[in-house]
Amino acid sequence: MSKEVTEYPVIWLQAAACTGCSISLLNTASPTIKNILIDELIPGKHVSLRVHPNVMGGAGEQVIELLEKTVQEKGKYILVVEGAVPTAEDAVYGAVGEKDGKPVSMLERVKTLGENALAVLAVGTCAAFGGLPAGDPNPTGCKSVMDVFKQNGINTPVINIAGCPPHPDWFVGVVAQVVIYGIPGPEAFDDFGRPLLFFKDLIHENCPRRAYFDEGKFAKKQGDPECLYEIGCRGPIAYADCPTRMWNNGKNWCIGSGAPCSACTQPEFPDLGSPFFEKIKDDDLPNIGEE
Ligand code: SF4
Ligand code: SF4
Repeated sequence: MSKEVTEYPVIWLQAAACTGCSISLLNTASPTIKNILIDELIPGKHVSLRVHPNVMGGAGEQVIELLEKTVQEKGKYILVVEGAVPTAEDAVYGAVGEKDGKPVSMLERVKTLGENALAVLAVGTCAAFGGLPAGDPNPTGCKSVMDVFKQNGINTPVINIAGCPPHPDWFVGVVAQVVIYGIPGPEAFDDFGRPLLFFKDLIHENCPRRAYFDEGKFAKKQGDPECLYEIGCRGPIAYADCPTRMWNNGKNWCIGSGAPCSACTQPEFPDLGSPFFEKIKDDDLPNIGEE
């Protein structure tokens, strides 16, 4: 008996990025990256990762042709953008392939692929909010995917999977949600377009060192067991489920290994959190525990 399998084409575009988000995804434990690439994500539904610069076997013109062919499948494919989008000086600071012998800018690719996609997953804080490439003074005019869309009247839904890098579960979970239930409504997102499924709580609310904070017992250096607030922890302003989910297949996480949280999931990252290892100003703190 033949079984119908619905294919979900995915194009993964790398713009101004360090590839860290891709590397994080490759570390996914359940499902593994092999499962994602080969198996059905759920029975009858298969994610077809057509283009990914680090994972695919093809290269060069072959890949560019595939990109351009996929654009014709309007509203059927998912676009993943890793990295911010350089826009300064006619977007000269980043290109993906060529057309008629001329480079096609990352901006052009994000616009063309984005306006025809079913949905866009902005993976990592660079794609979601600008991140490191958009850090002051931002000479390349890097912007987030949402900002590029707003400025160009593109209405394709964008889901911001923040993090530097994002946890692989955050990406895999969102893809599974879209494939199973469709694109979630606005109630599923916070004010910054992040899925509440993963970004509802402050790190500080679930941190195992919170009792030390409440007792006023603070670490003097990394490696001390107490609360890391005085040496630069941004857990009180960062939203993500790292304390409960943890990283590397549940092994450890930033604060668990003695490093302060740098609020890598926040739109303010990295500029407003810098320098990283200095205490944040008290007026940045939310009134935790107060109504
Ligand atoms: S300041 Fe950082 S280390 Fe201290 S309780 Fe909050 S999140 Fe944990
Ligand atoms: S603990 Fe903080 S810095 Fe570490 S991954 Fe989570 S949000 Fe980012």
